[in-house]
Amino acid sequence: MQYPFTDEQKALSDLTKDFMEREVLPVAAEMDRRPDPKDCYPAELINKASKLGLRTLAVPEEYGGSGSDLLTRTLVLWTGAQIEIGVIKCISQCWKLATALFKRGTKEQLDKWGKMFVEDDDCVGSFLLTEPDYGSDNIYRQPGPELGLKTSAVKDGDYWVINGAKRFTSLTSWSKILLVFARTDPNVSVSEGSTCFLVHGEQEGITYGRVHDKMGYRLYPNAESFFDNVRVHQDDILGEVNGGFQTFSTIFRGSAELIACNTGICRGIYDYCYAHAKERIQGGKPIIEHQTVQMMLSEMLMNIEVAEQFMWRICWGVEEDDSFNPRFTRNGKVFSDQVALKTIALATDILGGIGVMKDTPTEKMFRDLLTFLHGDGTDSLTLLRIAQTLENPA
Ligand SMILES: Cc1cc2nc3c(=O)[nH]c(=O)nc-3n(C[C@H](O)[C@H](O)[C@H](O)COP(=O)(O)OP(=O)(O)OC[C@H]3O[C@@H](n4cnc5c(N)ncnc54)[C@H](O)[C@@H]3O)c2cc1C
Repeated sequence: MQYPFTDEQKALSDLTKDFMEREVLPVAAEMDRRPDPKDCYPAELINKASKLGLRTLAVPEEYGGSGSDLLTRTLVLWTGAQIEIGVIKCISQCWKLATALFKRGTKEQLDKWGKMFVEDDDCVGSFLLTEPDYGSDNIYRQPGPELGLKTSAVKDGDYWVINGAKRFTSLTSWSKILLVFARTDPNVSVSEGSTCFLVHGEQEGITYGRVHDKMGYRLYPNAESFFDNVRVHQDDILGEVNGGFQTFSTIFRGSAELIACNTGICRGIYDYCYAHAKERIQGGKPIIEHQTVQMMLSEMLMNIEVAEQFMWRICWGVEEDDSFNPRFTRNGKVFSDQVALKTIALATDILGGIGVMKDTPTEKMFRDLLTFLHGDGTDSLTLLRIAQTLENPA
């Protein structure tokens, strides 16, 4: 057994699997191959997933969602990632938006933004941190006031006026709700002087640039955006003025999101390798009968299972264990990145030439896996953050 999931969790996982196999799998490869990345956004599929209740899993019941916990959502993401990562990642992006809104929002913000999110099956959201000159600094923040966000917000009466540029941010230009992080005090460090603003995707003054032409996660697109005197009312600040990074940590504390993405895709690769090894005849027998292939499959499965078990432990710990150490989240993310790379290495050996042919599903899975290993911070910087706790690891 993977983990002692409840019957309700298993039912939701089955529903996700059914949706992914029935609706997503038949069209995903064709959508992924569309040359213009703008054409890869899976609008119709998100609408369908929303009608099944998947988009609003993180919304509390009293606001019309199902108030699912982290373990349940991670199970859904992991289940979906085994079949196709882009669509299910769009859905998990919505959970992050809902977590930020419903944990940090005022009653008025929930009536306005929360209601808008819940009632509209097409509504997705974006987190806008990364800028041309500001990438890893959002993960590994350093104290200098000159470092960090360049996008600024300046107070003008009851409004704040935002100017700047963002890039690489997910679902931007499709998102109806933007969480824009901007510098509101340039004299202190980015951690102490940034604020999170709720902004409508079609607000005057916002323009969208390129949709980035990525090698993987193509059904989960990213784009540039530009802010030219965008006026945001002070009531649309999520959290406190200069408290943007407290809002940010509401979303990311104890996340198992990228471990679920990595291990889910790795499971998909393992399943394909196993099935292939039973059918492919070389040396006069199915290659699964060669001990080298058995050992490679065993190693692949061992790595994946260890990462998965740690993932469920994180989910449990975040919600049930007061002494949960956030370092576990970082350990799990870096470990699952390493498992991902090892899985690709083993799979390219087991599959030989067929593994990278465009009509073999693993070709897309390899590209997808490689695309987001730097997500939530490169491994080197995540390890540096772990290093800050070396003295007192308990
Ligand atoms: C699929 C995808 C989805 C994304 N989604 C979002 C999103 O929704 N919202 C968003 O805001 N951004 C998003 N991003 C951007 C992503 O968060 C950044 O790409 C990431 O933070 C890394 O920044 P960078 O690419 O600028 O790398 P860089 O910051 O240029 O890092 C390059 C190298 O320098 C090292 N380095 C950098 N700074 C230091 C330092 N101080 N000390 C030591 N080494 C250092 C890094 O470890 C790395 O090895 C997404 C990107 C992709 C590809």
